[in-house]
Amino acid sequence: MPAESQPKGEKSFRGIPVSAGVCRGKILVLGRTRPAVTRLQLTEAALAEEVNRLEKALVQTRHQILDIQHKVSQRMGAEEGSIFDAHLLVLEDRTLLDEVMRVIREQKVNAEHAFHTVAERYAATLSAIEDDYLRERATDMRDVTARVLNNLLGLEEETDLRHLKEPCIIVSHDLTPSNTAQLDKRKVLGFVTDVGSKTSHTAIMARSLRIPAVVGLKDVSGQLESGQYALLDGLNGVLIVNPTDQTLYEYGQLILRQATFQQRLNDLLAEPAVTLDGHRVLLNANIEQAADAEQVKANGAEGVGLFRTEYLFLNHERLPGEEQQYQSYREAAAALKPLPVVIRTLDLGGDKFLAHMTMPTELNPFLGWRAIRISLQERDIFRAQLRAILRASAEGNLKVMYPMISGLDELKQANALLEEYKAELRQEKVAFDENLEVGAMIETPSAAMVADSLAKRVKFFSIGTNDLIQYSLAVDRMNEKIAHLYEPTHPAIVRLIKTTVDAAHKHGVRVTVCGEMAGDPVLAPLLLGLGVDELSAAPSLVPPLKFLIRRLKLSEAQELGAFALECESAAEILARCQELAYAIAPGLFDNK
Ligand code: PEP
Ligand code: MG
Repeated sequence: MPAESQPKGEKSFRGIPVSAGVCRGKILVLGRTRPAVTRLQLTEAALAEEVNRLEKALVQTRHQILDIQHKVSQRMGAEEGSIFDAHLLVLEDRTLLDEVMRVIREQKVNAEHAFHTVAERYAATLSAIEDDYLRERATDMRDVTARVLNNLLGLEEETDLRHLKEPCIIVSHDLTPSNTAQLDKRKVLGFVTDVGSKTSHTAIMARSLRIPAVVGLKDVSGQLESGQYALLDGLNGVLIVNPTDQTLYEYGQLILRQATFQQRLNDLLAEPAVTLDGHRVLLNANIEQAADAEQVKANGAEGVGLFRTEYLFLNHERLPGEEQQYQSYREAAAALKPLPVVIRTLDLGGDKFLAHMTMPTELNPFLGWRAIRISLQERDIFRAQLRAILRASAEGNLKVMYPMISGLDELKQANALLEEYKAELRQEKVAFDENLEVGAMIETPSAAMVADSLAKRVKFFSIGTNDLIQYSLAVDRMNEKIAHLYEPTHPAIVRLIKTTVDAAHKHGVRVTVCGEMAGDPVLAPLLLGLGVDELSAAPSLVPPLKFLIRRLKLSEAQELGAFALECESAAEILARCQELAYAIAPGLFDNK
């Protein structure tokens, strides 16, 4: 980053970088105006109408949120769209709504006052807890509350970012996901907020939109004025107001270096991922919906290694039936033909729930009713999905895999059902790919330990390191308190991957890694050195991975793998991985 000086007039504010990129322009400070809510005393006779008004506003709010969700899913992707599931849940929260109704009836007050008071008390309680997740729920609640109040009062949205006159950097106390969803990329150069965290939904959206963003700048919105000129560095988390010519020059150089490097990555798009000593690595992408196929091609991936189908389920009000799923899988297959597309069957449970399906409350949801376990019990759901996949396989480039296989029986049962549905389709004279390849995800330690048995019954393995790490090390992947224990380079993980690869290769089965480890340029050489054949990562991570692989020798990766298998320390293995990656591809880590 350019030197940190504070010449007269120039002022820097530091926060949490959440979305990379540099931009400069005029600041627009958004006020913190909320709809004014007054308390009105009502007569007994007016109460029924008041409850009616509230119900209408709730329905109207629900439609608005569904509309935003739909637009966001189309524009940014299914994962971003699913952010609004949390908003819809607020509107379905019986405890909250019952209490609001009770306040209206018992205190004989207007709906605005009752809703505002109750919801704000809930939100204040949530935001006072030291937990990013719960704080995010408080933001969701305030976002929905503002919407309900606007609808009750017949007001326009308080912050309408759709009609900005000129390009600007938004400075605000907070930006709700609904506000962020409306940002016009041509007019919003970047944004900064007083509050927020890296995992907040607003941050996720900024990354999706590729707008530079910095959050957690404390009271920046109170210190700045609209019209001031500023430079925003979303990579290092700095907002520089009134930058000097020297600062602008230094940043100009940085932007130039980043652009040149991006061009180098772009130049490789059509090239294969081959190591310097001639070893070919297949680089695939992970997607959540058929529309993501564009991103797969744009980033030069060679297929889809993981189609997470649950987003199709999470984003709809009802369970998607066979036909709807068929259309979606067929669309992905057709868009990418002849590139292969691996469809993963439903991986619900854990942290992925459906608003429209009753899931049991479990003490340990990640160890509970999840993924293939649900599919094998909820036969109608599994049947619809497998039939949809089989029918779409007529395109010729689909493969299917099962998540969270923990032993041979589950694999055998799933395969038997697949055969049963194939027989049905033959009977119905419906076309499908008779050679559809079946794979198993290896994401439990037990699956890795019996990989030799599983390998006899599948064509490929896909190692889900996200879960393999959490289950092997007994470290909840969502728990920040123990995040330091979540170590991809733990010797146990290295050995489990090696056990899996050896068992697979003995039976002529190929091995992919589709967890986050695969997309990390520091860790990818270790995976290749352990014998992994293919990697699958978010589309945008494919070009840097290719850049790295084309500067790597397989022999170096194998030496790293051999070292890791002997080593007893996660930290030492990680240090060796870093040493290799920094040495062969400094450009990936330099331009910061
Ligand atoms: C994994 O566990 O590594 C994986 C790819 O699956 P998910 O992240 O969807 O659980
Ligand atoms: Mg998983």
